[in-house]
Amino acid sequence: RVKEKWAATHAKHPPTRLALHHFDATYSVQLGKLWPSVRVAMLSERKYGALLNNFCHDAVLVDLQAKGCRDFITNREEDAMPSLEQNSETQAQDESSDVSLKKSDIDGRQINLSPNIKCLVFPRGDVTRFKPARPDAYGLLSYYLMDAASVLPCLALDVQEGHNVLDLCAAPGGKTLSLLQTQSIRFLCVNDTSVSRTMRLRKVLHSYVPKQFLTDEKLRITSFDGTKWGDIERSTFDRVLVDVPCTTDRHSLTEDDNNIFNKIRVGERRRLPQLQLELLLAGIEAACPGGEILYSTCTLSQNQNQGVVEQAICLARENHGIQLEAVSLRPLTQMFRNTFHFAPGLHLGEMVIPHLAANFGPIYMCKLKRLT
Ligand code: SAM
Repeated sequence: RVKEKWAATHAKHPPTRLALHHFDATYSVQLGKLWPSVRVAMLSERKYGALLNNFCHDAVLVDLQAKGCRDFITNREEDAMPSLEQNSETQAQDESSDVSLKKSDIDGRQINLSPNIKCLVFPRGDVTRFKPARPDAYGLLSYYLMDAASVLPCLALDVQEGHNVLDLCAAPGGKTLSLLQTQSIRFLCVNDTSVSRTMRLRKVLHSYVPKQFLTDEKLRITSFDGTKWGDIERSTFDRVLVDVPCTTDRHSLTEDDNNIFNKIRVGERRRLPQLQLELLLAGIEAACPGGEILYSTCTLSQNQNQGVVEQAICLARENHGIQLEAVSLRPLTQMFRNTFHFAPGLHLGEMVIPHLAANFGPIYMCKLKRLT
C-alpha cells in the first residue's frame, strides 16, 4: 500500500481533483439544483450500450435480448416506464409536445431514424456490464461498446440514401461505425488530426466492416487539421459531423492519465473553445447549401457547447456569408426520454445529462442547417 503522504510521485493536486473543483464551481451555477445528482452519477461507473454490427454474421441480437437487453432505438414503445424527467414544468411541456409528436410534426420537422442502427442497453437501474464482443467466422466483431448517448448525434444527423458525409473529428470511430451501419452513405470522408488515433480508427473499421465497404470509391480516411478543411473542400457534403475535442468531463473526473486538467495542459484546455469554434466553422463551410451539420461534445460546459454554436452562427454569416438555422432536436429527445435524461430548457441544442439510473452522457448536440 502506498503511504500517500510520503509518496514522492503522488501528485499534490491530481488532475481528477482539479477537474472536480472546476466543475463544482461552474456546473453548480449552470445546472443549479441538478448538479449534485449529475455529480454523483459522473463519479459512478458509466453505462455502456452495444452498437450492433450489421456486417457481422453472428446472431447476437437474440442472445443479448435473452440477457435482458433492449434495442433502445427500435423498441421505444415497449418502454412503458414514466419519463426520467423530474421537473414538473418540463414534464408539462413534454406532454403537450407529445401530442404534436403523434402527428409526427414538431416544429414542422420529422426525424427519420435509420432502421439499421441498433444499440442495446440493459434496463434502467441495471448496471450489468457487456462481455467483450467476439469475432464471427470472417473475423468481424459483433458489437462495439460505447456510451449509448453517443449514438444520438448520429441519429440526429439523419443520413439519407446517397448522401456524401464528412466526419471531421472521427477517431477512435464509434460514431463513424454508427453512421456506416445505416448503409445509406454514398461516400464517407473520415478525418482526425491525430495520426495515432487515425490508425486506431482504421483498425476499428477493419474489425467491423467488410473490405468491400471500405474501398476508395466509398471511403476516404485522412489525418488533416480539421480547422483547415475549408482550404481543401467547401460546399461539398450533405451531412457533416463535428464531434470536437472537449474537456471529456467524465474522463477528467475519473482518470488521471491523459487528463486535460493536468496543470501542464492549462493552455490547451483554455484554447478548447477557440479550437471547437474553428472546427465547427470548417464543418459549416464543408457542408453544401441545404446540407446539415451536427456539432457534438461530451462536456456539460456551456462555453464549449451553446457558446461555441452561437459564435459559429454569427461568424459564418459575417465572415463567410453563410446563413444557418438551428434545427430542433426536440422530436429526438421525446423519442428517447425514457432511456436518457435530457437537460431541461436549453435554448440551443439538447444535452444528455448523467443520471444514476441511466448513467449515460454527458453528450451535447446541436444541429444546424445551411440555408445559403
Ligand atoms: N467522433 C469520435 C468517436 O465517436 O469515436 C470521437 C472524437 S473525439 C471527441 C475528438 C477527436 O478530435 C480526437 O480524436 C482528436 O484527435 C480530434 N481532433 C483534435 N483536434 C483536431 C483537429 N484540429 N482536426 C481534426 N481532428 C481533431
